[in-house]
Amino acid sequence: MASYRNGRGTVKVDRAQPTGSSNLRTSSSFKSKNSIVRRSNSSAGFDDSVSGRVRVAVRLRPQNAEEMVADADFADCVELQPEFKRLKLRKNNWDSDTYEFDEVLTESASQKRVYEVVAKPVVESVLDGYNGTVMAYGQTGTGKTFTLGRLGDEDTSARGIMVRAMEDILANISRDSDSVMISYLQLYMETIQDLLNPSNDNIAIVEDPKTGDVSVPAATLVDIRTHQDFMELLRLGEAHRVAANTKLNTESSRSHAILMVHIKRSVTDMESEITSENDHSIHMSRNSKPPVIRKGKLVVVDLAGSERVHKSGSEGHTLEEAKSINLSLSALGKCINALAENSPHVPAMKVENMLKIKEEFDYKSLCRKLETQIDKLIAENERQQKAFEDEIERTAIEAQQRISEAEMNYTEALEREKMKCQMDYMESIKKLEEKWMQNQPKRGTNGFSNGNHSAEGNNDHANEDVTELKTMLQKEISLRKRAEEEIHSLRNSQFCPTEADANADVVKLQNLLDEETRQKQKLEDEVLMLQSRLSQLSFGSGQSRYSQIDDRGNGETTSIANLHEHVGLQKILSLLESEDPNVRLHAVKVVANLAAEDTNQERIVEAGGLSSLLALLRSRSFDETICRIAAGAIANLAMNEANQELIMGQGGISLLAMTAADAEDPQTLRMVAGAIANLCGNDKLQTRLRSEGGIKALLGMVRSRHPDVLSQVARGVANFAKCESRTSSKGNKNNRSMLIEDGALPWIVQNANNDASIIRRHIELALCHLAQHEVNAKDMVSGGALWELVRISRDCSRDDIRALARRTLTSSQIFSSELRRLRVEI
Ligand code: ADP
Ligand code: MG
Repeated sequence: MASYRNGRGTVKVDRAQPTGSSNLRTSSSFKSKNSIVRRSNSSAGFDDSVSGRVRVAVRLRPQNAEEMVADADFADCVELQPEFKRLKLRKNNWDSDTYEFDEVLTESASQKRVYEVVAKPVVESVLDGYNGTVMAYGQTGTGKTFTLGRLGDEDTSARGIMVRAMEDILANISRDSDSVMISYLQLYMETIQDLLNPSNDNIAIVEDPKTGDVSVPAATLVDIRTHQDFMELLRLGEAHRVAANTKLNTESSRSHAILMVHIKRSVTDMESEITSENDHSIHMSRNSKPPVIRKGKLVVVDLAGSERVHKSGSEGHTLEEAKSINLSLSALGKCINALAENSPHVPAMKVENMLKIKEEFDYKSLCRKLETQIDKLIAENERQQKAFEDEIERTAIEAQQRISEAEMNYTEALEREKMKCQMDYMESIKKLEEKWMQNQPKRGTNGFSNGNHSAEGNNDHANEDVTELKTMLQKEISLRKRAEEEIHSLRNSQFCPTEADANADVVKLQNLLDEETRQKQKLEDEVLMLQSRLSQLSFGSGQSRYSQIDDRGNGETTSIANLHEHVGLQKILSLLESEDPNVRLHAVKVVANLAAEDTNQERIVEAGGLSSLLALLRSRSFDETICRIAAGAIANLAMNEANQELIMGQGGISLLAMTAADAEDPQTLRMVAGAIANLCGNDKLQTRLRSEGGIKALLGMVRSRHPDVLSQVARGVANFAKCESRTSSKGNKNNRSMLIEDGALPWIVQNANNDASIIRRHIELALCHLAQHEVNAKDMVSGGALWELVRISRDCSRDDIRALARRTLTSSQIFSSELRRLRVEI
């Protein structure tokens, strides 16, 4: 392969003399080589010391598999020395020929490097308006077509000189003002065929008699606008070349292929001025200058492989072909020789020179190694770049697919989860309904059974006591009667003792009588106490008051009212402060019984009973029984609004809270809780009740777990929440519920579905009241109260509570948006 540039004129092929090519052609055993000759004054690529001459490069292709097996000693007979730009052919063990080239390209040279070293300077010259030729020659199979014509469809790094040259040309011209036209021809058996239009064969070569320019005017010229256009034409030309060769019964290697690229470029004023100055031509003013167009022609020639007739054994038509090829090649050789004669180029060097520069060898061999490595890396880089782009595209498509797949799976999973939740919900509703159905008859018959059971048990026990005491009393009465009778009979006795004896007996009997009277009084007190206990025990779970004793056991109805009328309220109250704990106990029982009656409450308070009862709670010697009964009495008094304020005013809350903290008996706690629950229902006292620890005390009592206590706590909570919602609806309250502040919500939520219906009712009401005020909504959502409200709105057996819950849920913005978010319908 050779390349050269021929100024602004046409290539004078006929005046050229062969240079290094003859050496190559003589080496019959050298299968895998071709050489490049070029004539250029370009600074890139070849050594520029000899301008204008044809330059020659040799490229060695790698051995193919067949050669590796058949020609194992190949490496021994060819040695490339790129650092010296030499090729050494070993004739035998002691003799070798050395050839020098402008460039020596080893097996590892990349296509990019070959292009840049050999063809790029020519292409640049052509763009500057010169004619240039790149031609490849060498034996068939040495890689001429590989070097020139590879399209690189599959591997971008394999693109040959033609493709790369066109890329450079198109990148450097203006699509608007410049033009690129190509012809693609085949020279076979001395005739020229048009590869772009096969019907157009036997094209004449015309030589301009004046300028000597050689041209083929009949050849098809195609305007190239894009690189794709060019690739299409190369493919088309290749296909026609194969077809033409088949028709002619030949192979591609037996014809020369010629690609001609005609470039017309319009030159800017500036460029032309600089060039004109450089050329020492007359400087013309900008205005008077005509537009300049530069014409350049690039010719790329893929020559047919040369062969030795006696070696190939060609006969007949093949022999004719071979002659024709060899004729044309030797004519070319002569041309190149003729060109070389006038040039200072030295085709072969003496081997001795090598010794002089031997010391530089290490450096140069390192340089060679590096170059080899660079070539490999360049090729690899081009390949990887392409692979990387492909990979990115593939990954993007794959990612898109995965995203849509994941989206689909997610939607399905979500749908499944939703279905499952709905099923679970339905299932739990069903279970709850079944449970409710089972509980229904039980509630109907038992009502608030827990409280009553224990009260009934205690009642029986107390009744027995009362009967026993009554029997004792009866016995005492009859004893007294007998004693009186005895006195009477003694007085009327006929036996008259001495007066002194009689007096002594009277005194004795009088004492006896007094003793008996005291005993009677004591027993009556005992009876009172027992009756009061009875009434305590009948304190209804739904009502926070002591009820009157209804002693139906023996049919005798004793009213406490009657009793206190007998004894006197003041006296009873004074007994509350008695030193004797027993007396205190009896007295508090009587007061508690009295306080159960609305009619007595005012009188008790007026007479200072409330203060005395509170004083009992305050007393240091903590007696739980007294406290229990006192708390019960206070609870009863606390049903009256006026008394509620008095209780508060006298520090009742802290006393009740203190009792709640110390007490253990559930019944004591129940009384205390009942008292606080009553106070919770007073709008005016809320803040004070809370600040004095009322809510905390109430909540503290749930530790007992006794349903009687819990129901009082729940009642208190409901009362408090009701008052709060009343106050907030009047617009008086902007703060969070004090119940929530004091940490009641978790207990409320936990017990909202308590098995005991009385507790459940109170809590359901409490929740509805809390939910009235939007400021509580957030806490209720986060505390799980929303779900209880939803349940109440669906399942509560009381229509009014159910409706209230529903109304509340729909009117609260926070609740309704949360429910919308959870897709729960009310
Ligand atoms: P020619 O055109 O000189 O007859 P080809 O270009 O057709 O030779 O090359 C002959 C074979 O050698 C082809 O299979 C080609 O792919 C391979 N070949 C030529 N040069 C190289 C190279 N530098 N690297 C790898 N394979 C090559
Ligand atoms: Mg070929």
